[in-house]
Amino acid sequence: MPELSKRTATFTDSVIRRMTRVSLKYGAVNLSQGFPDFEPPKEILDRLAEVTREDFHQYSITWGAQNFREALAEKQSRLMGRKIDPNSEIVVTCGSTEAMMAAMMTVTNPGDKVIVFSPFYENYGADAILSGAEPIYVPLIPPEFNFDPEVLEDAFRQRPKALILCNPSNPCGKVFTRAELMLIADLAKKYDAFVITDEVYEHIVYEPNEHVYFASLPEMWERTVSCSSLSKTYSITGWRLGYIIAPASVVDTAKKVHDFLTVGAAAPLQEAAVTGLKFKDDYYRDLKQKYTEKRDLFLKGLDDIGLRHTVPQGAYYVLLDISEFGYDSDLEFCEALAQKVGVGAVPGSSFFREPVNNLIRLHFAKKNETLYEALNRLDGIRRVM
Ligand code: GLN
Repeated sequence: MPELSKRTATFTDSVIRRMTRVSLKYGAVNLSQGFPDFEPPKEILDRLAEVTREDFHQYSITWGAQNFREALAEKQSRLMGRKIDPNSEIVVTCGSTEAMMAAMMTVTNPGDKVIVFSPFYENYGADAILSGAEPIYVPLIPPEFNFDPEVLEDAFRQRPKALILCNPSNPCGKVFTRAELMLIADLAKKYDAFVITDEVYEHIVYEPNEHVYFASLPEMWERTVSCSSLSKTYSITGWRLGYIIAPASVVDTAKKVHDFLTVGAAAPLQEAAVTGLKFKDDYYRDLKQKYTEKRDLFLKGLDDIGLRHTVPQGAYYVLLDISEFGYDSDLEFCEALAQKVGVGAVPGSSFFREPVNNLIRLHFAKKNETLYEALNRLDGIRRVM
């Protein structure tokens, strides 16, 4: 038999998605892969029910249904402080996952370098491999997850084509300050690089932190490819609705990449999601409030058990320090945690470039009762681990 592609030879499967399967196997409360167990907004679901009987069963326009792009442009123009053109500056994709992949393929040539902050969401490594780009990792240093500007400039001196910016950040919960973003912006300009953002947690930010859209910084619109999705904002991760917002010159090419990759996002789901895109500001205020409560509830529970953890500024993940349990492998720890304690987590090593083995990631995008159940189980952790 002929060999499979060299490109895929260095791949493992996604550890995040694997841990969901491990959780299912042991009946664990799954706090690994980040998705909610509560319902999406009723208005969106009601519209979805109607849509099944309407004429939305064939392809939409490849780069997104007209009304979806118009509603999205309206919402994001308000947030990003710039009039976004729904026709020339948006591509609707199958989740932010496709948006990031399409952005990488639009911007980089095989052999180009891209800067990735570590820890990072594991897809970026695979995106780089698939597009032939070579990552340069710049550490975000715990516990604050700050970066050293000198180390970042050294990375830029290698003349990368782009920097990948996950803000708010998965898994460390960092929300980059305006000053940090300005520093990145200055370097992107000085070394003439693109910035590809992943801003899927844009609405999940805890006070007093604030989300600053990178594309909204002075002179950054031209060199930013903003990727995001509806998954986390409207609790519809399974709908796979994401998008790229960028200058027309970039979007023009991204539309072609997207067209040949997937043709388009699901037409009935785009139609139903327009309802969400039209929500007023109070929806986003309530969402922030809801996640703030969940964060506080979960962190207090961890404190009561005496487990050391990070305090996220944004997104819905917490990194737990497992040093006290003396495991060499965080992967083995997570298997045992699912089996013996009944809680699913993701080993930290799947996010860090550096040899970090003492952290695991849990998420709290769950009903309060699910979080209490997980905390109940974790309460017994020192007896079994
Ligand atoms: N972003 C989520 C996480 O990190 C899940 C994303 C996914 O599995 N597509 O867990």
